[in-house]
Amino acid sequence: MRSILIPILLAPLLTAAEKPQTPKQPWSEYRVHDVSRPHPEKVTGGACVTTPAPSDAVVLFDGSGTDALTVDWPIQDGSLVANGKDTRSKEEFASCQVHLEWRIPAGRKVKDQVGGNSGVFLMDRYEVQVQESHTNVTYADGQAAALYGQTPPLLNASLPQGEWQSYDIIFTAPVYGDKGMEEPARVTVIHNGVVVQDNTEIYGGTVFRRIAKYSAKHPEKAPLRLQWHKDPIEYRNIWVRPLD
Ligand code: MG
Repeated sequence: MRSILIPILLAPLLTAAEKPQTPKQPWSEYRVHDVSRPHPEKVTGGACVTTPAPSDAVVLFDGSGTDALTVDWPIQDGSLVANGKDTRSKEEFASCQVHLEWRIPAGRKVKDQVGGNSGVFLMDRYEVQVQESHTNVTYADGQAAALYGQTPPLLNASLPQGEWQSYDIIFTAPVYGDKGMEEPARVTVIHNGVVVQDNTEIYGGTVFRRIAKYSAKHPEKAPLRLQWHKDPIEYRNIWVRPLD
């Protein structure tokens, strides 16, 4: 009994370096959340792009209310503030174009994955990470605009904490047949005007410290989900254009 209990009791005290290693990604030469994975180069000069919703877009949030979302996150000065649990679009989508703007509150203490974390989940399961990555350092597949746990962005286009940032996302849903996934999902992400994911393959639903893989079955459409990660990340101007 004692030999079993001691490792269980000590586990929360282990440093990152002492934790059991995560598995190696089959699609890269690195492990999941590998702290030795090189970080993408920083690019400067990008800016938050504020594009008004086109006439054919489904507006999820324009500052006026949360009717299009499942959870009533509070609205402060026209911004939606993550609070309490994830929120989802009431409408469901497959392939789509997504625009949204987000901000890590100025002055908030951020370290690694804690303090500045949220995420945009396409089809409720594929996360484009929201994170403070202007000065905060975390593992490369967990920084802003990473496909969380899978693929870091091509470049780091992050702006300072307290400034609005934009994501424009073009998502291609996976194709499923009788025997499961036939063509994987793909995603392009433009962060503050800079292409940081270029038709990147998605290897499965987002998971923590494990290898992503596709489920045996998949809905034809699913909500867009915004993550509550215990951090009050702000959002504004959220709209989706279905591409199917
Ligand atoms: Mg996240």
